[in-house]
Amino acid sequence: MTSTVKVGPYILGGGNPVRVQSMCNTDTRDAAATIAQIRALEAAGCEINRVAVPDMDAAKNISKIKAGITTPLVADIHFDHKLALEAVKQGADKIRINPGNIGGAANVREVVKACTDAGVPIRIGVNAGSLKALKTFAGRPQWSDGQWAQTQVREALDEANLLEQLNFKQYLVSLKSDNLNRTVLAAEEFAKQTDVPQHIGLTEAGSFLAGAVKSAIALSRLLAQGIGATIRVSLTEEPKLQVRAAYEILKALKLREYGPEIISCPTCGRTQCDVAGTVKKLEEIIYADADLLQRAAGKKIAVMGCAVNGPGEARDADFGIAGGKGEGLWFEHGEVKGAKIPQDKWIEKIIEEIKM
Ligand code: SF4
Repeated sequence: MTSTVKVGPYILGGGNPVRVQSMCNTDTRDAAATIAQIRALEAAGCEINRVAVPDMDAAKNISKIKAGITTPLVADIHFDHKLALEAVKQGADKIRINPGNIGGAANVREVVKACTDAGVPIRIGVNAGSLKALKTFAGRPQWSDGQWAQTQVREALDEANLLEQLNFKQYLVSLKSDNLNRTVLAAEEFAKQTDVPQHIGLTEAGSFLAGAVKSAIALSRLLAQGIGATIRVSLTEEPKLQVRAAYEILKALKLREYGPEIISCPTCGRTQCDVAGTVKKLEEIIYADADLLQRAAGKKIAVMGCAVNGPGEARDADFGIAGGKGEGLWFEHGEVKGAKIPQDKWIEKIIEEIKM
């Protein structure tokens, strides 16, 4: 069991629910755009939101952004400790900074004092691509994945020691890489050596499909071992979809509930209805409506392409449709119920059932 860190209303680590976070891709100096994006993320269930703080104008905007949102806000800072001090002053709920990169012991002391006084935790983010050890190489080092992971862990522990020496305990660590194996090895090794909670995820995971698959494999390997207090799925996609992917991973692992589980068949030569279109539309409606999302949580809904295999194959679903030509059978727990439903009424019927 790891130690715990408090971020806004959430206690991370120590066996508490794994929290989902994302990061805005708006300009933090544009408070209105950033608030709008965070609100959309909040509606999608994002629990912790991070913004880049590249300069003082961005840092000074933290309080303005916070006034427009309800979730904890994390300020992402590199190198400049003054930005961290300003972000804390402006009410950031957490800062992401590497103490070893902010210009020496006096600066670290100043930031730690400000965070201690304000009750603000820190995330140390040690990414494989920015390891200090890489500076001694002209190109790419010929390291095994294990050597990458060991180096990452060593540097993370060095960073952590700077906080520990000042008796600062409210911190998490992330050890990300775009390489699945290195990310898993580093997080495992760090968990062996410390009880510090981890923010886990791949970095630069890629496009929606490739990145989500890669992230799911890496994160499931870690989460199955109890490693990971909070997750972020970094996709080259709108942040809302990163949140969706994160929840789908947690939901599949039965770690969190989030919306329904929609099971649908891949369709085949027997299919005479629009399974793909129905599922797509259904998801669009449910995931755009926070209330519906909540009501649907834990429900297993089936959309099947035929009555031959449909109800039987989807026996485990709470309810669903087995489509035929222009209409479909409604079934509940594998049993057909009531009259046939025209295809243009399927979604309506499913939504109605969710609301019941
Ligand atoms: S449920 Fe029916 S339509 Fe769908 S793949 Fe199976 S046999 Fe084909």
